[in-house]
Amino acid sequence: MIPDFEVTILGNTSSIPVHGRNHTAQVVRFGQECLLIDCGEGTQIQMRRYKVKSSRITHIFISHLHGDHYLGLMGVLSSYNLSKRTKPLTIFGPKGLDEIITTQFRWSNTKLTYPLAFVETRPDGLNLLLDHPRFTVSSFPLTHRLPTTGFLIQEKEGFRSLIKEKLAEKKIPLAAIQSLRKGENFKDNDGAVYTLEEYTHPHPPLRSYAFCSDTCYEPALARYLSKPTLLYHESTFMELDAARAAVTFHSTARQAAEIANLIRAKSLLLGHFSSRYVDLQPMLEEAQTVFPTAALSEEGQSYPV
Ligand SMILES: [Zn+2]
Ligand SMILES: [Zn+2]
Repeated sequence: MIPDFEVTILGNTSSIPVHGRNHTAQVVRFGQECLLIDCGEGTQIQMRRYKVKSSRITHIFISHLHGDHYLGLMGVLSSYNLSKRTKPLTIFGPKGLDEIITTQFRWSNTKLTYPLAFVETRPDGLNLLLDHPRFTVSSFPLTHRLPTTGFLIQEKEGFRSLIKEKLAEKKIPLAAIQSLRKGENFKDNDGAVYTLEEYTHPHPPLRSYAFCSDTCYEPALARYLSKPTLLYHESTFMELDAARAAVTFHSTARQAAEIANLIRAKSLLLGHFSSRYVDLQPMLEEAQTVFPTAALSEEGQSYPV
């Protein structure tokens, strides 16, 4: 069965794209909805390589304005224009990004074929960006050299499924069924109560995905993130380069794993690897000493949430 909530990694390297690794970009699919998170150089090429239907993307989220997280954006936006896209697109990103996009299109005399909206993100707390019937997307602050946000995608509680045997036992008013489906108990005019416990199956645990692009070790993340089903956390360096991580406001593999433990993440994906490491196995082992199920993100791989 194809999972209805998954993340496909298109790029997971920092600084220079080498060793066959590309700059940060990933597609989150929730049902029919596709979101692009970060858009490093080469993103549209990676989408084609891994057969991601780019036309399905309706919202793009950019964490910060370091080039390895957004320099692929103009390519994606220009290709939409060449393919005569008409579907609206919204970009969420830091202050200044709209000016960068507008300036480039102005100097290339480009008139877009599709409505393009821009929403400025603020690194000052948990902010709701998108309220979809099935999920929400919020931003939260990260601690980096530029204003930076991570993104949290949380499943909403959908309709409850009813216990068919219970419904067969006695006639239940239609209004009660509608309330129960929406997750509310119901009381009829005679005072009879129909409860969720009695008539509906419990909802499976709600899933969430937390994306932490570039950040130093930041325990304050626990204010915004609690028990995500899947945490993607940058792991630019290993502990032997911890001093370098500190001055560049990045994290080590061990620190990423400590954050995963702190916020009680169910699973952890590492990414944003420095080009100084060719073999990433030691990095994985470092993280696994703290968070045993930590995994290295792999380009082209999809991970169910
Ligand atoms: Zn970066
Ligand atoms: Zn950065």
